Amino acid sequence: MKLIISNLSKTYANGVKALNKVSLDIPTGMFGLLGPNGAGKSSLMRTLATLQEADEGTITLDNLNVLTHKNEVRKVLGYLPQEFGLYPRISAEMLLNHLAVLKGITKRNERREIVKALLHKTNLYQARTQNLKGFSGGMKQRFGIAQALLSNPKLLIVDEPTAGLDPAERNRFYNLLSELGENTVVILSTHIVDDIKELCTNMAIINQGEVLLKGNPLAVIQQIEGKVYEKAVQKSELEDYKQNYNVISEKLFLGKPILHILSDNNPGNGFKPIEASLEDRYFSEIFGKSLNPINA
Ligand code: ADP
Repeated sequence: MKLIISNLSKTYANGVKALNKVSLDIPTGMFGLLGPNGAGKSSLMRTLATLQEADEGTITLDNLNVLTHKNEVRKVLGYLPQEFGLYPRISAEMLLNHLAVLKGITKRNERREIVKALLHKTNLYQARTQNLKGFSGGMKQRFGIAQALLSNPKLLIVDEPTAGLDPAERNRFYNLLSELGENTVVILSTHIVDDIKELCTNMAIINQGEVLLKGNPLAVIQQIEGKVYEKAVQKSELEDYKQNYNVISEKLFLGKPILHILSDNNPGNGFKPIEASLEDRYFSEIFGKSLNPINA
């Protein structure tokens, strides 16, 4: 199973070019699509989920043309959109059962078994009779995965699933995603670098509708290994440093700015070499500070 996206472009009626010749080969397993807000992630996800048209380009899932055979795709698709509405006054079990009917699982016993298995899988079985209104953010997202799995999808699309979840809920959600079959193409879009690092075997960084980088997260980090340096500076010195060094990020630690820079050679001047992280790579791509344009 392989999803191949080729030269996909989309310009909205207001002139925003949300996707600009996006090409990605996505094998089974977890694929992370990382980019800042407005990068084009949701536009890509919605196009993959057959919910909007592209202007140009092709998408194939094995032999299936995703852009022209939408009904076929929908049979093998699971989609958890960024915002999804839930009927608040109905229990998780009843809603999942209802959605299963809509998905065409018409045999009662079979449906009961599937619903039960999915409630267990998403750790919602204990809460199955509870109204969805009382669910926490994490529970709602897990319910979202349960409904997305109803059709036993070959392609599962999960758009910014961890936004708004607390760390414990996020972990539970990660564990659930990581258990999903090796036979499924799972695409996870996020602006949270840690989501990718923990879960994905392949990833791409997109910004302004363009793919900046694609590869395996470890390989992507490896390429800047030995080139990232760190220094704590005074706030008043920040601008000077930005002028003189290839600053990829600044963070406050105990109220003091900590700079990360990218440099081929040891810059001296109190900078210490540090282990490169995916976040360093991400910032270096997003802010256009890569040493060389490279793909892993
Ligand atoms: P992301 O999911 O990475 O935040 P989006 O795909 O939502 O990015 O948005 C990409 C760009 O397209 C943004 O500039 C956004 O404002 C714009 N955009 C998204 N949807 C629409 C739409 N339906 N009409 C017009 N512009 C849109």
